[in-house]
Amino acid sequence: MVTVSIGVLKSNAIRFLPDLSDKKKKAINAVTFLPGFKLAMKFTEKFYPDAINCKVKTGEKGYYDIAFRKQAQANILGLLVAGDSAKEYYNLESEKAIVKAAIGELDRIFDGKASKTFTGEYVLENWGHHKYTIGTWTQAFLQKESHLKTLNRPLAKKVYFAGEINDTYKQMGVPGAVLSGYHFIDRLLTE
Ligand SMILES: Cc1cc2nc3c(=O)[nH]c(=O)nc-3n(C[C@H](O)[C@H](O)[C@H](O)COP(=O)(O)OP(=O)(O)OC[C@H]3O[C@@H](n4cnc5c(N)ncnc54)[C@H](O)[C@@H]3O)c2cc1C
Repeated sequence: MVTVSIGVLKSNAIRFLPDLSDKKKKAINAVTFLPGFKLAMKFTEKFYPDAINCKVKTGEKGYYDIAFRKQAQANILGLLVAGDSAKEYYNLESEKAIVKAAIGELDRIFDGKASKTFTGEYVLENWGHHKYTIGTWTQAFLQKESHLKTLNRPLAKKVYFAGEINDTYKQMGVPGAVLSGYHFIDRLLTE
């Protein structure tokens, strides 16, 4: 059972013997799997609203209060970026430069409040570059039906594929990944 992300399959990190068919490779490469990251920054003051949606050409970008309605004393603001604007941040080349850019952007919106209250503590999870994800999430309902069928086809009834993109109900995210796991384990044991 192969359950790696479509990003890992696209990267050819896994070698199949015999090789995957051209049809399978084409279907893998046709799936959109946007790059992206999540950045959590700590501040001494909550100067920001619960959420800020930013306009982007592809994917999404938004700041949001990670401590929203949680029993937390800390002021943590998150930045989620997926798609082309993630690439703009990646061009900055270092984590620190990405954090600096985010603080600078917040300063422009909130009149310098971000740099005045930033504690310097942050966590950045870069799903777009992490070698075990190489991307963020899929949207099966946007993909061609024929590609989805090809992706779900096992290899010689021996190697099965599961994961969020393999969910026949086209649920997004974790629920889809879990459903596909049940579905293909059942097929693997019964076919
Ligand atoms: C920032 C962000 C926020 C998200 N928020 C949500 C949300 O709120 N709700 C939701 O439902 N979904 C969310 N998702 C999507 C969700 O994370 C994915 O849909 C889900 O993780 C897909 O599960 P999967 O099992 O298909 O793949 P993965 O979770 O990627 O699991 C694949 C596994 O394969 C392993 N692996 C990879 N390569 C190899 C290799 N070469 N050898 C061995 N093992 C390997 C990986 O380590 C990993 O454990 C979010 C994703 C991101 C990036």
